[in-house]
Amino acid sequence: MKVGLDVGGTKVHAVAVGDDNTIVAEARLATRTGAEGVVASIVDAITQVVPDGFVASSIGIGIPGQIVPGTARVQHAVNLGITDLDLGAALAPFTAAPIRIENDVKAATLGAHALRGGGDAMAYLNIGTGVAAGLMLYGSLHRGGHGIAGEIGHMSIDPAGPRCRCGQFGCIEALCGGGAVAERWSRPGALPIRDIYDAADLGDAEALALRAGIAQGIAAAVRLLVLSNDVDAVVIGGGVTAVGDRLFTDVRAIFEREAELSPFLRSLRFDDRMEPLPAASPAAALGAALVGVAELPEGALAHG
Ligand SMILES: [Zn+2]
Repeated sequence: MKVGLDVGGTKVHAVAVGDDNTIVAEARLATRTGAEGVVASIVDAITQVVPDGFVASSIGIGIPGQIVPGTARVQHAVNLGITDLDLGAALAPFTAAPIRIENDVKAATLGAHALRGGGDAMAYLNIGTGVAAGLMLYGSLHRGGHGIAGEIGHMSIDPAGPRCRCGQFGCIEALCGGGAVAERWSRPGALPIRDIYDAADLGDAEALALRAGIAQGIAAAVRLLVLSNDVDAVVIGGGVTAVGDRLFTDVRAIFEREAELSPFLRSLRFDDRMEPLPAASPAAALGAALVGVAELPEGALAHG
């Protein structure tokens, strides 16, 4: 059985996946940060999903950082407290299984594609602390020449908008990224995005402005992915989407207004192409398990 792990800043989600890509075991545990903590968390999670007496045939790991191409080494995983870690070497003493790692958003893209039963052109849009997308085109992840394809969080859509951590103004991520929005919200709390939606429901002006920006950013991201790649679906997940219907209702209202102004935009059916990922979806961990499999046979994902 193959094992997949989605290593996030707060939790590790592990799955064991059978030959037909069905999930046979699952575990969620808190992430310990720093290189040693992350390695220990991963080892614990693998132990929980692989029963005694069994061995994993492959291990795939989705992790929020930059992956050195062709290696199992991650760099700049800021939320995990990792600057540079050869995860393959660090895990080798604990398992004989081959280990592959992938950026978490790209892994989730593979998983979302498998859960949808395939499709020629799909995007996965992650609205988490940061904002990025993955593209699944004709059965494979589209990376582009330098691995930048899908990094649409830093597309500026409003020159008069808030300053982004990248230096520009009005980036999609500055408007709808959970980190940027929480920084601008003046009332700190454990769940800032939920607090903003709750305060906006009560008519709070600051919260209404931030909430409008979140919808504007997501609508722009969907529009961009459809116009640049004509994807059939933009699957949307990530921590910010945990507020659920209120967020997607706002985005749909923007699409409706645009459709009234522009028959062209109406014809593109943004609303129909937008697919919220269900809460607690295993997409990211399942995708990581698929990353772990060497040289997938043609169509293996489409028939998962
Ligand atoms: Zn930016």
